[in-house]
Amino acid sequence: MHELSIAQSILGIVQKEAEKQKPARIVAVGLRIGALSGILADALEFGFDAIKKGTPLEDCRLHMEEVPVSARCEECGHDFEVKELMFACPQCASASIRVTRGQELDIAYIEVDD
Ligand SMILES: [Zn+2]
Repeated sequence: MHELSIAQSILGIVQKEAEKQKPARIVAVGLRIGALSGILADALEFGFDAIKKGTPLEDCRLHMEEVPVSARCEECGHDFEVKELMFACPQCASASIRVTRGQELDIAYIEVDD
């Protein structure tokens, strides 16, 4: 399962951060998941919940926000949100577009309780 290895790397990053934040406790991690990243939020949360057990991050929750797909037209420079995965410029109908957002998986913030 792809999401499980992603959950493991998130846990690793957050665990390092938890060491720095001591004695405060990390209670939540905010993630931004691109709609094109191929990551299933539910599966990621399930994996994270499974592997956090017995670690200092047992009470840490994931807050996930989906990032819509954005693109820029190479012909006219128009920036737009890609809806229903129609990869063409709504302004000039060019298919020569570059995806600018929507493929990422970022840790947006780490919430600490002290
Ligand atoms: Zn265009």
